[in-house]
Amino acid sequence: MSANRNPAGTGPDHAVEADTVILGGGLSGLAAASGPGDEAVVLEAQDRPGGLVRTERIGDYWFDHVIHLLYFSHPVVEERVTALLGDVLQPCPPVSWIETSAGDTRFPIQLNLAGLEPAARAACLTDLEAAHERPLPAADYEKLLLNAFGRSLCELFFFPYNRKLWRRPPSELSASGFHWNLTRPSVADVVRGADPGREVAQGYNSRGWYPRPAGPGRRGMEVLSQALAAQVPGLRLRHTVEGIDPLSRTVTARTPQGTARFRYVRDCVSTLPLPVTVALCSTAPADLVERCAALPRNRVRSVALAVRGPRPAGTGHWRYYTREDVPFTRLVFMTEFDPGMAPPDGWGLLAEVVERAEEAPCSDSALIEQVITGVRAVGLLSEADELVATRVLTCDPGYVVFTPESRAVTQEATAFLAREGVTALGRYGTWTYSSMSQVMESAFAWAANR
Ligand SMILES: Cc1cc2nc3c(=O)[nH]c(=O)nc-3n(C[C@H](O)[C@H](O)[C@H](O)COP(=O)(O)OP(=O)(O)OC[C@H]3O[C@@H](n4cnc5c(N)ncnc54)[C@H](O)[C@@H]3O)c2cc1C
Repeated sequence: MSANRNPAGTGPDHAVEADTVILGGGLSGLAAASGPGDEAVVLEAQDRPGGLVRTERIGDYWFDHVIHLLYFSHPVVEERVTALLGDVLQPCPPVSWIETSAGDTRFPIQLNLAGLEPAARAACLTDLEAAHERPLPAADYEKLLLNAFGRSLCELFFFPYNRKLWRRPPSELSASGFHWNLTRPSVADVVRGADPGREVAQGYNSRGWYPRPAGPGRRGMEVLSQALAAQVPGLRLRHTVEGIDPLSRTVTARTPQGTARFRYVRDCVSTLPLPVTVALCSTAPADLVERCAALPRNRVRSVALAVRGPRPAGTGHWRYYTREDVPFTRLVFMTEFDPGMAPPDGWGLLAEVVERAEEAPCSDSALIEQVITGVRAVGLLSEADELVATRVLTCDPGYVVFTPESRAVTQEATAFLAREGVTALGRYGTWTYSSMSQVMESAFAWAANR
């Protein structure tokens, strides 16, 4: 950082001058700071770094804000994260289940039809074979799913699950937003997985990783955020960005001490949600701000339940639910990731509930009640279990929603920011559906090539 006699940057005539100013201290902002090193200032609104990748402690229970298993998308990320965390990072091959009206089976369902009732299994196989006579590309997500998996499997799992996840009919979603994570299985693999004597198929993401530190202290995926943050001397917490002026190359932030200003000499990187970055940019046209604000997205409410009682057996790390009578899409079992996430006589459950962001959120108390009723309905809480604590963790945006219109707006907004000298990075900064490893990969690449 260049010399500055007013390192707080407060006061009307003062600004901290920095080589690079990075907005947001989630994984992407922290990873981006690895390039400019101590020449970067990272502005983060919260009092802890990590963004989505934070873990809350409630008594002796630990809950990630959302389910978080690390899968390496690129050797560079694997090398850097492994060097950073050492033995703390442990293999965690995921075991997940899908509960359907025709029986429970292992994820991914298309490669594990054997768990279904025989009639459902036969119908899924017949329809999938027929679907594979058509080409995969399709105009909307519903047709893409039909082409990939056939009608019976769609009606049993993919349609009801996606309606719960996206809170919209799959026919309203753009297929192009999903090609990256949808792999059409070969008929031979599906037939193999329908044989009850087969080995369970692991699916496409079978190499998961999770931090399991020895001894007391912080637990959960936030261990990764904290390790990255420890390498960022310019991280400023409780700094809420309120304005970006590309003309004077100045970012304004609200801090507990007042308003602070930061002038970037070289780069400005934003990992804030794309609609927020555009709205904060002084040169943004009003109609672009409006169209970005209207980009559809869903909010994720994670309901944490701290339970005292015996840990349920055979749950796997998480389970998917298609039933309309329970509010959650997934239940996540925290002690399966790390047994130390709860005291020995207890376990932690995280229920993932998705809401449309444009609708008013359900109150925390009503949501907790609905989740507890649902968890009882799926047979996971008995009268003998004692609920020690509950908490709702909200992330908004949680899932960006891909519609034919949203793609054009996103492209226009990122192109506008690039012209103004602001680089958009991160899951919400670029308005994508990216993983922890993917956002670190892009941020490391930006840092290496700038
Ligand atoms: C439900 C769910 C499940 C997921 N599961 C997985 C998984 O299992 N595995 C996986 O790899 N990935 C998973 N992900 C994705 C992963 O969480 C993200 O890719 C990653 O955390 C995104 O990091 P980011 O830095 O881009 O964004 P964020 O974490 O959102 O960081 C942005 C930061 O900007 C800050 N900020 C916002 N506004 C301001 C402002 N005005 N001023 C200053 N700071 C501000 C925020 O506080 C935040 O810290 C999941 C995501 C969701 C929603």
